[in-house]
Amino acid sequence: MAYRLQSGLATSADGWGRWPAQNFKPAARSRFGFVTRTDKSAGERPILTMSLSAVTVANNSSSATSLTPECIHCGLCLQACPTYIELGREADSPRGRIYLMRAQQRGAIGVSDSFIQHISACLDCRGCESACPSGVPYGELVEKAREVIEHNARRPFWSRWLRAFVFERLFLSHRQMRMAFGLLRWYQRCGLQKLVGGLGILKLFPGNLAGLERLMPDIRNRTHHVALGAVFPAQGEKKFRVAVVTGCVMNEIFGDINQATIRVLQRNGCEVVVPGGQVCCAALHSHAGIMDTARKLAKQNIAAFEQAEVEAVISNASGCGAKLKEYGTLLADDKDFAARSAAFSRKVKDIASFLDELPSLAKPGELKLRVAYDDPCHLLHAMKVSRPPRNLLLSIPGLELLELATPEQCCGSAGIYNVTHYELSMRILQRKIDDIRSTPADVVATGNPGCLLQIAHGLRQAGLDRMRVVHPVELLDQAYGGQNPA
Ligand code: SF4
Ligand code: SF4
Repeated sequence: MAYRLQSGLATSADGWGRWPAQNFKPAARSRFGFVTRTDKSAGERPILTMSLSAVTVANNSSSATSLTPECIHCGLCLQACPTYIELGREADSPRGRIYLMRAQQRGAIGVSDSFIQHISACLDCRGCESACPSGVPYGELVEKAREVIEHNARRPFWSRWLRAFVFERLFLSHRQMRMAFGLLRWYQRCGLQKLVGGLGILKLFPGNLAGLERLMPDIRNRTHHVALGAVFPAQGEKKFRVAVVTGCVMNEIFGDINQATIRVLQRNGCEVVVPGGQVCCAALHSHAGIMDTARKLAKQNIAAFEQAEVEAVISNASGCGAKLKEYGTLLADDKDFAARSAAFSRKVKDIASFLDELPSLAKPGELKLRVAYDDPCHLLHAMKVSRPPRNLLLSIPGLELLELATPEQCCGSAGIYNVTHYELSMRILQRKIDDIRSTPADVVATGNPGCLLQIAHGLRQAGLDRMRVVHPVELLDQAYGGQNPA
């Protein structure tokens, strides 16, 4: 029986505009076994589920292998998926989303509101990739689906304007980013933030400005960015010449982490270059499906880092690092950049991996701290880096490393997901905070700016402000006698 999906499963926002209410006309059973049932807990919204018999049908179907050949519908990814865990809907699971993507690619469904809703609700955390025994490249699939959405979705005027401003202006210019954060600092310093918060003015704006504001840390005194174009000499004998990726938001909010990264590299015999021509890594653009701009940024970065003539390109933000590692894939079809992008991606290293692979690490001093380490999704699931940050922390005498129960689960930050899907993001965050709360940690360490902000926000909301949230490299820097992380 044909599967009939008629514009939607539930009313929701994709975060950039509220999509209209949708109707789902249940077919009795699809060829792949999707059937509908009503989820009382979800307010009588029809949801998708998949029957076991359907798995067999899908496995035996030759056409099922045409677009996502590796997915065998085993469902082993479901419990690794934060949105499935929270919403309990097949269509909000990796398997369900792959089904929808396949259906859209085959022309069985259009770029309907429900398609947009379910693909947009994905965190792109790639927990499903780690869980998948077939090696389905889910990250690539979802980014392609979002590109299709980007070219086909009709968005409200303000949403189009906001996306154009954020993705095509703000993130393309370090100068504009600096001005934006300068304004934000002024907004926090002059007391306007308190006034606006007290009056609830932001709730009057479309989108989720109020949610965004709640996530924003106090940046009044965070002015320690690293200057582009600078070169820092190695301490002692020069063993390597490396380049550092400053990031956009990273350099404005967490410039002190960039500084700590450079100090730690210098301490370990690296001459550190900060290429002046570097631009945004394009991770946010790729996640949003704005691939033409992503490719343009990737080419600019490759050219800038080639000029630096370094042995390694060091990233301390796993979201950026994962994207830089994927430039080879992003530009694989570009005849001028295919080889250059692959060579560039091979040089990209997360700071923890780079330090962990050194023949010997400069000896740190003692830090008596209990530290819970949380894996950033793109470090663990995309870059497959798990041990190096732990090894780095364990190299610090006196530091006790605590393991969370589910360090591999997303904290709900996911780029700008916590802005576009604030409520769901907060539900996902709550699990992380409960996990952290169950440890006796003094400090939480994680290597991505989005996770740092999100976890700090969750701890503030839970009244656990006493716990610091820091980047692992900050602790190593502190153990070398650098600054105490704020
Ligand atoms: S684990 Fe992999 S193969 Fe199995 S359903 Fe999920 S994506 Fe498909
Ligand atoms: S990327 Fe994350 S949220 Fe998206 S389907 Fe995979 S596990 Fe679920």
